[in-house]
Amino acid sequence: MLDSQAAALVAAVEEGFDEQLSLTEQLVRFASTRGEEQAAQTFMAALMTKRGMAIDHFRIELDEIRHLPGFSPAHISYDNAYNVVGTLRARTARGRSLILNGHVDVVPTGPLDMWTTPPFEPHRTQDWLYGRGAGDMKAGLIACLAALDAIGRTGHRPAADVFVQSVVEEECTGNGALACLARGYRADAVLIPEPLHETLLRAQVGVIWFQVKVRGIPVHVAEAGAGANAIEAAYGIMAALHDLEQAWNDRKGNHASHAHVGHPINLNVGRIAGGDWASSVPAWCEFDVRVAIFPGQAIEDAKREIEQTVREASRRNVFLRNNPPEVVYNGFEAEGYVLKDADAPVAALASAHQTVFGRALDETASTATTDARFFGLYGQMPALVYGPRAELIHGFDERVDLASLRDVTKAMTLFIAEWCGLESLDDDAGER
Ligand code: ZN
Repeated sequence: MLDSQAAALVAAVEEGFDEQLSLTEQLVRFASTRGEEQAAQTFMAALMTKRGMAIDHFRIELDEIRHLPGFSPAHISYDNAYNVVGTLRARTARGRSLILNGHVDVVPTGPLDMWTTPPFEPHRTQDWLYGRGAGDMKAGLIACLAALDAIGRTGHRPAADVFVQSVVEEECTGNGALACLARGYRADAVLIPEPLHETLLRAQVGVIWFQVKVRGIPVHVAEAGAGANAIEAAYGIMAALHDLEQAWNDRKGNHASHAHVGHPINLNVGRIAGGDWASSVPAWCEFDVRVAIFPGQAIEDAKREIEQTVREASRRNVFLRNNPPEVVYNGFEAEGYVLKDADAPVAALASAHQTVFGRALDETASTATTDARFFGLYGQMPALVYGPRAELIHGFDERVDLASLRDVTKAMTLFIAEWCGLESLDDDAGER
């Protein structure tokens, strides 16, 4: 790319940045927690239509993806689970095609009184944009459109087909991205602008969700010795699961992608329910767990170890010994993923990043998962994850760094121009 062309693209991002922020704020206003994404998706479809894209607004049909590798069991209704894909066709198709993918679902807010400003009322300071989903990853999703807008402002469009995918279900199963794959979307590379702090994701862990259902014997507290307290028994099982977490971390040396990461495997008890009455020994307790696995660690092996851990912990409890808890898989069954065979797109992104930031592109091995795994593992497409600096995602006062967002959008724009090439918007004009 000519220096003058890069400069024009960078200037076009600057020019559009106010509008980009305004669109990001509008998207943050939609409280698109799981099951509530429809309005946000309608908004995304309208933005894509306005940009001349062909729209594919479709519901995820479980029967079409259930049999596919990478599928995760869904324990909630998909009646309202819609993806939106906008296709921007090139006239010349001289370049390399690209999927830009982002998720519109956000995690729950937690207690509202712990937010400084309401989570779905975006709040902007000089340096930050606050709101649930601002960082993870509505800023990135809008940046995809802003990058294409910037290219348009210079009188061009990508010289290869570009597909913008706004998906759901990223935060619990990944079945939204899987449904896009099942629908046949393919490209020469994929870019997912998750908030990666201006680094390239080289590897990510896998994630398994499961629920442990513990039973007990309900009696009046007056004769508590005759009962079995399911809630207190659950703590013993949690402790055993944390021992398993430690054992897996101790094996990190066997997993090159994460051997240098301090604590790659994190196990979290994320939700708990149980009991009915303060004066009754609780007969039930259920808790939800998220645990990571290494790239290359088989999900079936990990499940076997989880179940064995629960079984062995139960043997130490008089009641559970004969009434072992049930383990139910109710979300993520995600394999780990390492970006490989991606020299060409990585070089294009690294060059774009270098131009904008004036430094080399660093790489990250993540202790979380992203939708990149579907494209990389099951679609044979190199999937790059690269995005702005954000803080407190999944926490209170989530925020995205505005200067970082602006510069990452510039790098994304240069990457698209380099990867896809550019053609003139004016049909009669020559191509560059
Ligand atoms: Zn995310």
